[in-house]
Amino acid sequence: MSTGGANDTRSAAAGAERLGRFRVVLIDTTHPGNIGAAARAMKVMGLSRLHLVNPKTWPSAEATALASGAADLCHAAAVHAELEPALSGCRLVLGTSARLRSLSMPQMDVRAAARHSLAEAAEGDVALLFGREAHGLTNEEMQRCHHLVHIETNPEFGSLNLAQAVQVVSYELRMAALGGGGDQRPAMDWAPVDAEQMERFFEHLEQTLLDIRFLNPDHPKRLMMRLRRLFNRARPDQNEMNILRGILAAAQRGDYGAARDAARDLEKRP
Ligand code: SAH
Repeated sequence: MSTGGANDTRSAAAGAERLGRFRVVLIDTTHPGNIGAAARAMKVMGLSRLHLVNPKTWPSAEATALASGAADLCHAAAVHAELEPALSGCRLVLGTSARLRSLSMPQMDVRAAARHSLAEAAEGDVALLFGREAHGLTNEEMQRCHHLVHIETNPEFGSLNLAQAVQVVSYELRMAALGGGGDQRPAMDWAPVDAEQMERFFEHLEQTLLDIRFLNPDHPKRLMMRLRRLFNRARPDQNEMNILRGILAAAQRGDYGAARDAARDLEKRP
């Protein structure tokens, strides 16, 4: 008898466990019915962690009605006043977008994003951001993301209903998990710091660039956006982050002895 059956079962279990690492983050949702329908879309695909940022109406009987058998996800949903805590502890942040605007952010189609993020979920939590019904994610919210994810659609009419977008993304994650994605690991051999630490770093970087007058507050242009893209691509680990923060702190103090120590630290690294 082949052992394929047992391996398949193990792989499916690993995939199911991976799906538990995803959180769906709905931002500023206007219609509570969409939240209920999104919960249902998630549960049928094996996702369970719902985060709501500033929902217009919550809790809501309409949400419970549309959730049908997934009302438990609504009741367990974490509700936040801001995006920040919804991303706490996440290793990877993906934003979904109906329009792929400028080339300012790395972009992926939903199928590739599902495979990629499922592998990353082996090592930590992944956040999937969904925007407002009327105008999607803001630029600031997009800049919190490593990638933007797009569901391929009719170019002349490309905006899905929010809950239907959650459905397609959850389905692709499930398919990736069932297709053996639950066995894959991220193609990187270091542990990047989480979203919270990256955000603290970007705040520190911006303040330092203001302090040393590199960033002109009257003409910021797209400098911070470009730097976010650069460091989000690099995915620094804890050690690298400590060095970067050390450099910023030294630059702010104008303390060039400390900057030299940080540079030496960097040289000592293998
Ligand atoms: N008018 C808005 C669309 C908002 S639809 C806009 O142009 O941005 C509400 C949310 O559903 C979006 O913010 C996004 O999270 C998701 N969504 C809708 N269509 C999508 C698509 N084709 N690909 C990826 N996400 C989509």
